[in-house]
Order: sequence, then structure tokens, then C-alpha cells
Amino acid sequence: MRKQYAIAVSILLMAIALVVSGCGANNAAGGNESKPTTEAADGNKKSGAGNAGDNNQVVNVYTARHYDIDSQLFDAFTKKTGIKVNEVKGTAEELVERLKREGEGSEADLFITVDGGVLNYAKENAVLQPVQSDAIINNVPAELRDKENYWVGMATRARVIVYAKDRVTPDQLTTYEDLTSEKWKGKLLVRSSSSLYNQSLLASFIELNGEQKAEEWAKGVVTNLSRDPDGGDRDQAKAIAAGVGDVAIMNTYYVGQMLVSKDAEEVKVAEQIGVFFPNQDTTGAHVNISGIGLTAHAKNKDNALKLIEFITSTEGQTMLTNGSFEFPVNAAAEKPELLKQWGDFKTQTIDFAKLGEHNKKATELMNKVGWK
Ligand code: FE
Repeated sequence: MRKQYAIAVSILLMAIALVVSGCGANNAAGGNESKPTTEAADGNKKSGAGNAGDNNQVVNVYTARHYDIDSQLFDAFTKKTGIKVNEVKGTAEELVERLKREGEGSEADLFITVDGGVLNYAKENAVLQPVQSDAIINNVPAELRDKENYWVGMATRARVIVYAKDRVTPDQLTTYEDLTSEKWKGKLLVRSSSSLYNQSLLASFIELNGEQKAEEWAKGVVTNLSRDPDGGDRDQAKAIAAGVGDVAIMNTYYVGQMLVSKDAEEVKVAEQIGVFFPNQDTTGAHVNISGIGLTAHAKNKDNALKLIEFITSTEGQTMLTNGSFEFPVNAAAEKPELLKQWGDFKTQTIDFAKLGEHNKKATELMNKVGWK
């Protein structure tokens, strides 16, 4: 499994290099779709990470997340503790490869990404070490951490169905499976199969329903598409508003981020979109995790643990969920009004590591059925 996933990741890396550097519309590692990375994850270049030898009051973070709130969280942590946070950005796959290549010499103390499969891949590639901190363990429930605490969750995200409020009513929606029925022919929107979000969604169906059902579903999606996959999650919402399609598969937090966007057009689009949590009577809505791991050779371990403790604290989690509209991992966090409106919902109950284990098969199936 590990080897297969490594091959898949290598192929993915090559594909990414060919397409764009950073977070393009088809970004495989997720993150904010509209922001380019500030630094290439290239070990030959001088890294932006600080030197622990000069000053112990730093923590160096390799992160695949590209949401504005993260920098604000780090600033709040620095204000509180005096510990400076240095960020190196890249795709998750690039950063894991970089950690492997740098080995003991790596300046990274923390690795942050947005997919449970990739977090497990990092663990399996021995670039992480267990987090030992009662405070952190108390902040994050067991189901949102690695069994041996090689990584801990910082937020969860649901990939659901969104719909045109003026043309679709929620009672017309039920399950992911129903999106492949005749009634949605020519009305369905979804981004490309190069998106890790879609790969993990299909991986979850392989785990829950088996390969054959997963393939049938992917084929049904392709049959019902209103256009070839184009752009990121936000672009699917924009296409609904433009009347290109009526329903789309999308991560919920983008709806929240668009509603508070400085771009008036995005706000207008988000106002026309309804959010529907599917499979509530069956397998639950697909949820993935964004998590943090302590690197195997962290030189600023105490500072790194303090940062994880802050991010997972009630204060840090309240800041995070109100900024990114992801779901907090700490139940004590105060959620934004929008998330309260959405209410509680049933989620898939699968081991996040399975998303990585089935990644290669999911990619294969999408290629087979012609999901571009
Ligand atoms: Fe994202």
C-alpha cells in the first residue's frame, strides 16, 4: 500500500509541476485556491525557516494550508508567547518529500496539511514523531487524532452538495449516489479529478461501498456533468449562479469564506447557494481532516508543542473556525453563526488513513471513467 501510494504521489508531483506552481484551480493538495504559494518547496533554495541556533524563540512550520486565518492565528500566538512562527508553504506532497530529503538537517518543526490520507502518508514515511502533551490530547478527541498521536486534527471539513436556491429545493436532494440519477443529467458541477478533495471523496466510497459501486458512481457523475470540470470549488458555486448547472459538489467552508469575501461578486454568488448535507439516513456526509504533525527532527520541540496547544485550544479554535469556516476539533470553540445554522449532521465514520490507502485506486477509477 505504502509503495503504491508513493508512486501515486510521485505521479501527482510530476503533474503538479507541469500544471502550475502553488495553488492553481486544479491544485491537488487543496488550500486556498486563489492564492499562489509564497515560496517553492525546493530544498536547494534558501528556506524561509528561522535558525534555532540564533534564537530559541521560533517555530518553523511547513504548511500546505493557504488560508488567511492561519497567519492571523500564528500572529496571535506570537503576541501571546513571544515565539515567532516561520511559514514555508508548498503542496503537502512536496513538503513530505522535502522533509524526507532534508532528514535530520530539516529546519521544520511542524507539518500541517489538509488531508487525512496525506497525514498518514507522512507518518508512514517517518517524517513525524508522536505528540506528547496532555493539553493537546485533551483539546482534540481521539477520533480526530492519529492512534499514536503522530498527528492531531486542527479542523474538519465536509464535502457536500450545494444547490441553486432558486431552482432546487432541499427535498429534491438526498445522497451523493442520487446525484448520478437521470434527474440531474446535464445539471451537475464538480472540479477536476486532479483535486485531492475529489480523490479522497471517491476513496471514502471505495472504503464504504466497494470498488465497483465507487466506479459506477464516478461514471454517473461524469454522465451528469453540465460541463467539463473547470476551476476550483468556488468556481462550481459561480457556475451555479451563472446558470451553468444546478447542483455541485463542494467543501462547505468555501461558502462561508465567499459570504464574507471582499469580492462583492463572491458574496452575491454565495447568497444564491444552499448547502445540503447528504447521506444523513445512510453513510453520512464525507468529512476530511486538516491536521498538524511534529516533525521527526524538530529542533524547537517545546515551542512547536506550544503552537499546537494554542491552535487546538478553545481560543485558537474559535479564531480558526470564525476565519476559515471549517469545523473546529475542540468542542468548546464558539462556532460562527453560519455553522450554527447548518446544525449538527451525520458524518462518515471511516479511518482517515483509508483515504490515503485508496488514493491510487480512486485516481485510477476516475481516469477510467473519463473524469477529467
Ligand atoms: Fe480548500
